[in-house]
Amino acid sequence: MRTIDDFNFKEKKVLIRVDFNVPLEKGRVTDTTRIKSAVPTISKIIKDGGACILMSHLGRPNGFEDQFSLIQIKSELDKILKIETKFCTDCVGPIAEHMSQKLLMGEVLLLENLRFYSEETQGDERFSKKLSQHASCYVNDAFGTAHRAHASTTVVAKYFENKFFGKLLEKEVLALKKVMNNGASPILAVLGGSKISSKIPIIENIIDKVDDIIIGGGMSFTFIKALGGKIGSSIHEDSMTKKALSILELAEQKNTKIHLPIDVVCAKEFKEGAESKIFAIDSIPDEYEGLDSGPKSLENFKKIIMSSKTILWNGPVGVFELESFSKGTKEIGTAISKSTKSGAFSLVGGGDSVAAVKKFKLENEVSYVSTGGGAMLESLEGKILPGISALKK
Ligand code: AMP
Repeated sequence: MRTIDDFNFKEKKVLIRVDFNVPLEKGRVTDTTRIKSAVPTISKIIKDGGACILMSHLGRPNGFEDQFSLIQIKSELDKILKIETKFCTDCVGPIAEHMSQKLLMGEVLLLENLRFYSEETQGDERFSKKLSQHASCYVNDAFGTAHRAHASTTVVAKYFENKFFGKLLEKEVLALKKVMNNGASPILAVLGGSKISSKIPIIENIIDKVDDIIIGGGMSFTFIKALGGKIGSSIHEDSMTKKALSILELAEQKNTKIHLPIDVVCAKEFKEGAESKIFAIDSIPDEYEGLDSGPKSLENFKKIIMSSKTILWNGPVGVFELESFSKGTKEIGTAISKSTKSGAFSLVGGGDSVAAVKKFKLENEVSYVSTGGGAMLESLEGKILPGISALKK
C-alpha cells in the first residue's frame, strides 16, 4: 500500500478523489463528517508545498442540475480548511483545464460534480484521461465509492505513475485488516439488521476468521424458524431457512460459535409506544412480532462482547429507529464501547449500525467507524474493491 506519507508533494499538482457526497438541506450541509475526513490528506499535500485538485460526486444527478452542484459545499470546505478554495463550474473541458493549469502551489481547487457526466459512472476511458490531465499525482481518499469501477475512482488511476492511498482510505483498509487478517483473539462479529439474505455473503466470508458470531435483530428469526421455533409474525425469509441451517452446520465444522437470542421484546403493532411483552425467542404467539432483543439475550451478548479482543459490528439488534425498541441496540453499542475502553479493537461498519452509534453518541467510544456503507459491506464479503486494486497496479 503506497500512502501519501511515502512521498513529498512539493511543487506537485495532485488530483484527489474525495467523498463529498454530503447530506444537504436547502443548499446547506447538514453533516460535515465527510468534508472533515478529507482534511488530513489535503493538509499533508499543502504542507509539503503541493496543490490539490478535488473531485467528487454529489447525489444522483441527471446531467447538470443546480441542486446537485458542489458549489453548495464550498463555504463549509473553506471554513474547515481555513482557506479560500477555488471552484470550477465543470470537472473537465477548457475552463477546468485552464483553472488547474493556473493553480498555484498551496492552493485548493474544487471541481464540479463528476456525475454531471454519465461517463463518470460508466468508467469511460476518454473522460478518465481528461480528468487525469489536471495533475501529475493521483490520490484516492474516497472509501465510500471504492467499490465502484467509476472513472474517478478506478479507471483514472492507470494514467498515473504516482498514485497513493489517501489518509482516510488507508485508515479504512487498516481497520478492516485488523479485524479480518490480524485481529487479537477472541474475535467477535455482531450481526443484526432486518434481512438475513443480505448478510449471508458476510457470514460465509468471516465464519472461519472469527471465534464468535452474535446474530441479533430481524435476521435472527429465520434461524429460529429453521430450528423449529415459533416466531409469531416476526420478520423472516422462508427462502433462507435451508441456508440458515447450513450456516449453523458450517459454524460447527469451523469451530465458530454462533450465538442466537434467547428472548425478545415483542409487540402486536410495529409502532412507537406499542404495548410490548417479552417472550422466549422460540415461543412467540402468532399475533406478536419480535422488535428488540430481550434482557436475557442482552445479558448473554454483553458477556461475550466484554470477553472479546476484536469486535466487528454490522447491523442493529432491534428496530432502533423507534425509541420503544432501541434499548437492545443502545446496550450493545454501550457494551462495545466499554470493551473498547478495556483494550478491545472495535470496528463499526455498514449503514444502519453507523447510524445507531451516531444516534447514541458512541462514535468516539469505539475504535473505528467506517465511512463507507456499500464499500464496507463488500469488503466484509471478501471482495477486492476496484478502487483499491487500481492503486496497486
Ligand atoms: P439492514 O439494512 O438489513 O442492515 O437492516 C437494518 C434495519 O433492520 C433497521 O432499520 C432496523 O430497524 C431493522 N430491524 C432490526 N431488527 C428488526 C426486527 N426485529 N424486526 C424488524 N426490523 C428490524
